[in-house]
Amino acid sequence: MNKNELIDHFTIELLDNLFSGWNLNADPASPQAEKIRELFKRSGLDKQTGNIVDLFKMLKLARDRQGLSPQAFDISRQDLTGLALKHQQIDEHRVSVGGRVNKALPIVAEAGSRIEWYLEQKDVSAPSGIQLWDRIEQNHSRIRQLLGMNMEDWNSFSGQLRFAVESVDTLGEILNLPPEVIEEVSRVNRNYRMRLTPYYAGLIMPETLDDPVLLQAVPTGEMLDNAGIEIPPVAADHSPARLIDQFYPRVVTIKATNMCAMYCTHCLRIAHIGKKDRIYPGEAYAEAIKYIRDDSRIRDVLITGGDAFMLPDEMLLRLLDELDSIDHVRVKRLGTRIPVTTPQRITGKLLDILEMSNDRKPLRIVTQINTAQEVTPVSREAFKQLSRRVSAVMNQAVLLKGINDTRVKMWKLCETIQEAYVRPYYIFNCSYRNPQFAHLRVPVKTGQDIVESMYGNISGDAIPRFIATAGGKIPLHSSNVSGADGSELILRKPWSGEEVRYPDPDPAEYVRQDTAFNKFEKNDGHDAGDQGREPCRPKEQEKMPVPGKGEKERAI
Ligand SMILES: *Cc1c(COP(=O)(O)O)cnc(C)c1O
Ligand code: SF4
Repeated sequence: MNKNELIDHFTIELLDNLFSGWNLNADPASPQAEKIRELFKRSGLDKQTGNIVDLFKMLKLARDRQGLSPQAFDISRQDLTGLALKHQQIDEHRVSVGGRVNKALPIVAEAGSRIEWYLEQKDVSAPSGIQLWDRIEQNHSRIRQLLGMNMEDWNSFSGQLRFAVESVDTLGEILNLPPEVIEEVSRVNRNYRMRLTPYYAGLIMPETLDDPVLLQAVPTGEMLDNAGIEIPPVAADHSPARLIDQFYPRVVTIKATNMCAMYCTHCLRIAHIGKKDRIYPGEAYAEAIKYIRDDSRIRDVLITGGDAFMLPDEMLLRLLDELDSIDHVRVKRLGTRIPVTTPQRITGKLLDILEMSNDRKPLRIVTQINTAQEVTPVSREAFKQLSRRVSAVMNQAVLLKGINDTRVKMWKLCETIQEAYVRPYYIFNCSYRNPQFAHLRVPVKTGQDIVESMYGNISGDAIPRFIATAGGKIPLHSSNVSGADGSELILRKPWSGEEVRYPDPDPAEYVRQDTAFNKFEKNDGHDAGDQGREPCRPKEQEKMPVPGKGEKERAI
């Protein structure tokens, strides 16, 4: 058999190119010539692909830069054809040396050049709390001293809440804030409550006025200046029963508390949260549970707040028990930021409660981490413990100006949380509904660019969906189907903009019913009636109502 018949066209092209070299005189004493001879010798001896690849790479360079043909190194086309065949025989997937050298390696190099900027910047402009841990620990010991906390206070959730920083003066002292900042925060603080657990306050780098954790936790002047006309609180038009919010037929939320361990400047529920801590009466929970029990369509219940982990263990246990006892409730979620803001809450007792409920029906934790800086060795450990006991731990970040509104910050966030056992789930565009934080909003276009730039550059399961909250969650991704040409779609690669053609299946083929085993089917009168069996694919599209044209829902 002719050896050439076994070599693929990539390798033939590569060989043609090498032997098109016109220069037949290489200096035999040059390091280049020595290296090539050495690689040639070793390629013939060992059973590895590496030397063969390196040899072809060097020959290609010699050809491209100096016009040198392999013959200049006393290597014939027959020699190289033999080595190419050997490469293909060694490789488990029969990859040719031509494919590897001319295609795969350049593709990898190109992909690598796409993310060089990210690798350079990620640890400088978006350090994680793990990378900043030495400084955070210094902050923590200074805060403990200033607040007079002992280690027992520090390591308990109740201690963290008891010593929570609510006064602007204390905050100023902890962070060494300039007087004009303290004055401004005091002004805002009269209307907007501030609270940081000592642990969370320690994540802020002192004297850093653009610190992304500071901006999430400490209200600024804009909150008063922007306040304007209050838009009615989110819940007003979506609460069919006490404590319940419902947008969807099969998913409801129970707003089980209005308390949080810290208060966010960008809180969507700012009208309810962080004004005054309230304990809800037992009847409120009973009515909420009854609402869920009475509607057998509801299958997914999200306990949120405020923050679900503000509920005492017994209360959580009782709520989960109730939900687990409802047959049609199949899965549950808990919404909580506490593993980030106060990981001391994640105790063995809490974990046991979660695991017990998860064993009955899947329980997921939905959290909110907005910057890599919030992921410390302590919160990572909390998430690790949680992830061992529940079915998933997912993150819903909020896109916030000056906090996480660049590619590098958001990529770093998504990678860091994934490394901390948390799956990126959503990125919410900051709501327009609350004028108090209009200054934190980011244009949708910027958010789309940030999220879509992730495709092809970070792991697919670290890429969240970009969502507007407007009477339910509406995906904001722009389409990557950029056009159609006959039966082919034009798809756009999000990472390079390159367009590829993608054949859609033939519609006539799709509606055929005589496929698979259907063609053997005989109506012998035993099973179906006159109509015969229902085809495996409905002849008509399933009926799903199209939203009425005139019906324009007021977004919230
Ligand atoms: C966020 C939310 C849900 C859950 O939506 P998913 O897309 O399933 O995560 C359900 N109900 C309300 C009221 C919500 O705000
Ligand atoms: S944790 Fe959630 S509910 Fe609580 S203040 Fe922050 S955004 Fe609002």
